[in-house]
Amino acid sequence: MQWLDTAPEGARLPVTTPLEEVEAAARDAGVLVLEFDAFRDGRGFSLAAVLRERGYRGRLIAEGRLIPDQARHLRRSGFDGVVLGPGADIEAWRRMDAAFSATYQLAEDDAAPIWRRRTLARETPEAVVKRLNRDTQDGNAEDILCAALDPSLGLRPAILSSFGAEAGVLLSLAARIDPSIPVIFLDTGMHFLQTLAYRKALSERLGLTDVRLVTPDAGERCDLDPDEDLWRADPDACCDLRKVRPLERALAGIDAVITGRKRHQTLDRRDLRPFELFQGRIRVNPLHDWSEEQVEAWFDAEDLPRHPLFDQGYRSIGCWPCTTVVKAGEDGRLGRWSGAAKTECGIHLGRRTMAVG
Ligand code: SF4
Repeated sequence: MQWLDTAPEGARLPVTTPLEEVEAAARDAGVLVLEFDAFRDGRGFSLAAVLRERGYRGRLIAEGRLIPDQARHLRRSGFDGVVLGPGADIEAWRRMDAAFSATYQLAEDDAAPIWRRRTLARETPEAVVKRLNRDTQDGNAEDILCAALDPSLGLRPAILSSFGAEAGVLLSLAARIDPSIPVIFLDTGMHFLQTLAYRKALSERLGLTDVRLVTPDAGERCDLDPDEDLWRADPDACCDLRKVRPLERALAGIDAVITGRKRHQTLDRRDLRPFELFQGRIRVNPLHDWSEEQVEAWFDAEDLPRHPLFDQGYRSIGCWPCTTVVKAGEDGRLGRWSGAAKTECGIHLGRRTMAVG
């Protein structure tokens, strides 16, 4: 935490500003100053925490009517600095920031709450994955999700969803347990309009309250793909720009990613387990052993809306330049990067998955 005499140059907003406006301002701001006009007003803390949760990595500065007792809470909410008024007792701020060594709740800093420290002291992440695979070996998708979302495990989970042809299964299962679970949608700028409409309709139908649209960095997009045709020349670079890098930013603070991947989809997925470790995070695959027939049966039983392109023969739906229809009876994944050796966009590859469990 920095103790500042004056606020650095940047965007400034009062903490009474609606979240949507703060998010819009933060999108292009390397520095964002939130102005508190009363120390009793908690909105600035909430705004900071939500911005951090949603991937804001610029500097976040608090200024205004604040007191030293709030130092630690400001830091834990995601602020990097506080502007202290004239005559402020900087030692009091430092003292209060360091006053407690233990925490009871997860927040935006890396401090592990007491209950989580107890779990981690007992088990390494590898051991957690092993245990969860063992505990759920006779369970179904709901059991796997419940195990991943068990509060005593202390994970901060998020669902990764393309809102494609089969997305309704995982999302409806999760919504039954916790409709406030974060859902990350990689808004590549290349989606079919039907996918964007389906995202909205399905989210409303399931009551999902935290669907996060994650976009590529505007500067990187200008530099690397000014004509928006990188997908033609180098689809791996395009996926890296529009999916892999934005996802990495969005996953800051998330330590369990829930996916809808299934074994039958690609060769790379044939040994998929319910839980795995991937680049230091737990990946949860509740539908790992589901067949296409089970997916269809679930849509029927739950009376879920289908993606608007499903009836036109699309079975695996991603960005429009890289998605085609498949013939009846053909493997749905053949409709992705058709004619190329590419079968994955990269968000599930990267460094190889550690073989645990
Ligand atoms: S799926 Fe195609 S358009 Fe979408 S990010 Fe990858 S290469 Fe680019």
